[in-house]
Amino acid sequence: MGAVTPVPVRLGRPGRSGAAAHVAGSPPGNPPAPGMPLRGPLVDSFGRVHTDLRISVTDRCNLRCVYCMPEDGMKFLPPDRLLGFEEIARVARVARSLGVTSVRITGGEPLVRRGVVDLVARLAGIGFEDIALTTNGTGLGRLAAPLARAGLRRVNVSCDSLREERFARIRRRGDLRQVLESMDAAEESGLAPLKVNVVLVAGVNDDEVLDFAGFARNTGRIVRFIEYMPLDADASWRRDQVVPADLVLSRIGERWPVAPLDQGGDPAPATRYRFLDGSGEIGVVASVTRPFCGSCNRLRLTAEGSIRNCLFSDDELSVRQVLERGEDEALALLLRRAVWGKRAGHGMDQPGFVRPSRSMSMIGG
Ligand code: SAM
Ligand code: SF4
Repeated sequence: MGAVTPVPVRLGRPGRSGAAAHVAGSPPGNPPAPGMPLRGPLVDSFGRVHTDLRISVTDRCNLRCVYCMPEDGMKFLPPDRLLGFEEIARVARVARSLGVTSVRITGGEPLVRRGVVDLVARLAGIGFEDIALTTNGTGLGRLAAPLARAGLRRVNVSCDSLREERFARIRRRGDLRQVLESMDAAEESGLAPLKVNVVLVAGVNDDEVLDFAGFARNTGRIVRFIEYMPLDADASWRRDQVVPADLVLSRIGERWPVAPLDQGGDPAPATRYRFLDGSGEIGVVASVTRPFCGSCNRLRLTAEGSIRNCLFSDDELSVRQVLERGEDEALALLLRRAVWGKRAGHGMDQPGFVRPSRSMSMIGG
């Protein structure tokens, strides 16, 4: 990334109604930010080009993973606050026209939103190079084939333990066997190579690193070890619960040597490694110990219609009013403003770091 002088931009936060304090695209009240390009790719003030849109279709979930949601008392959006599929598709279409090439559907648990197959078909019709989905796997056995037929290309299935009892304890509800069967169903439907997301929490499941590495070697699935981030809804995250990616890699490397894969400049969050004996690959997502903000190419659409430029920043712009007015140009300007205002990094290592007010499932992981 070149040394580009940052231009500070204050983004409006959505109010209770979901309306943005500033609505982009409605000059003279809200003119484009100084220096912000009005043509070309979606770029931020540090020169990062944004090509990946994460779409949250719901903040609800049928599980309550310990690192994500409390067991009881989680408040969810009323259904009438969710963006409809037509609205989501419009945002996606405008994002595509600005150079976004890939989308990932997430949540909450995206497969609890009724009609998600229809959304995939709509997105496929827009012409993205890649349409992916992240799921806890509980509904995937039933939906893998229809999703693949609708145009889904890839799927990440979250699974934090290969031991039934522990799996149930971490995810609080849910059943390991069902999730393993859903991985088979996804592969049979052509959703391969399958990625398996493992959030490691020290003292909870970090003794399974080698089991998961062995699982990757035996199944050809790409296991991605994710560092626990301060995005849990009950704010109980502690730094000493993070299992550093370097520790994971050294443990695996002692048993089965690995080497970094040439990612050809791919800004994906996971750093990929191949087993030197040719038996597959693993990845690490080191958001805490080795932040990859410098190459971040992602923006997010939350379930109620806010554009968010970083998991860790509460700055959001709501697309609702712009959608109601039906102006794609104004929507494009809003996406540009949201991206332009992105900070250099999440700042987790800086003294003034404050956790974002919304947790992972409310934003869309
Ligand atoms: N419900 C789906 C699932 O679990 O895969 C999709 C949404 S979930 C928020 C997306 C990913 O974020 C999952 O892989 C989940 O394990 C991960 N995740 C949730 N809370 C996290 C946290 N505090 N730190 C790191 N990863 C987290
Ligand atoms: Fe649900 Fe996914 Fe959060 Fe677990 S990580 S509680 S499955 S949204």
